[in-house]
Amino acid sequence: MNLPDFIRAMPKIELHVHLQGSTRPETLLKLAQHHHIALPADTVEGIREWYTFRDFPHFVEIYGVICDCIQAPDDIELLAREFLQGQASQNIRYTELTYTPPRRIPFDEQLDALNRARVWGEAELGVTMNYIVDIPRECEVEVGNLIADWAISGMGQGVIALGLGGPEVDNPPEKYPEAYAKIKAAGLISIPHAGETVGAASIWSALKFTDAVRIGHGVRCLEDPALVEELRRRQIPLEVCPTSNVCLKVVDQLENHPLPHLLEAGLYVTLNSDDPPMFNTTLTEEYIRCADVFGFDANRIEQFVMDALRVTILPADQKAKLMGQYQAEFATLKSRYS
Ligand SMILES: [Zn+2]
Repeated sequence: MNLPDFIRAMPKIELHVHLQGSTRPETLLKLAQHHHIALPADTVEGIREWYTFRDFPHFVEIYGVICDCIQAPDDIELLAREFLQGQASQNIRYTELTYTPPRRIPFDEQLDALNRARVWGEAELGVTMNYIVDIPRECEVEVGNLIADWAISGMGQGVIALGLGGPEVDNPPEKYPEAYAKIKAAGLISIPHAGETVGAASIWSALKFTDAVRIGHGVRCLEDPALVEELRRRQIPLEVCPTSNVCLKVVDQLENHPLPHLLEAGLYVTLNSDDPPMFNTTLTEEYIRCADVFGFDANRIEQFVMDALRVTILPADQKAKLMGQYQAEFATLKSRYS
């Protein structure tokens, strides 16, 4: 068994991946036809070509079209089922899925749809997920407050954290004081994106203002030694998404990604795919590409997986059970790997 085969076969965990950003081209076409929404192409091949990442405005345009095509709870259930199929095909048994709730559908109906897919995924595919409900940073303060209320209402039904995504520039978390006060009072944790298109200041805000327990991306922390020391000392996990960073031009190419420097600095790093079909990747691909470019061996790859598992927001007994299963499977896989 070679390293790519080892990576394909190994059990995985994903902490940073978006439901809308995981929409397959064929699903988007299906939803658009169902809702009579015009797309730039009317064949799967055409959509796939349009889907290929060009630049940030184009990415935002595609994201907007996907969101327009989500009109009913059934659409959410379809996306979530297909998402879980994709995770199962990669042996990703547990995912903390970032979900941006559309405002046109009552949130309890959205959550019911997600949970129908989750129950189906557990029974049929043996994989499961929980949700990080996120505020898109560009939205109005009232919408942010509403999403925080929604996230709180979903606690105990799969919602494990409030996320913060979207354009980082000029949209710090301080824009939403009420939303963060609400979640703190309710005991819901914060897992924001930060340090992707804005530097260290954004990560400091995420830590100080939102009490972030993990940071989405965070790769620009290296710009501030004091921040690196804070993240290292507290072992705040970074959800690193290498191909996403290349596509969104946070770095020019994978070879120049700061991943090795983050590890050398003693930071807590996990690997993730972000918006996989839009960036022409998968979590499996992220592991294979990084192993290839940075020379990671099977032990290092295993450590990335186990580190991700260790910082999941799962009850202690569930986490311990998964850790035991994963350790046993890695031991078997490594005995076959040469
Ligand atoms: Zn993301």
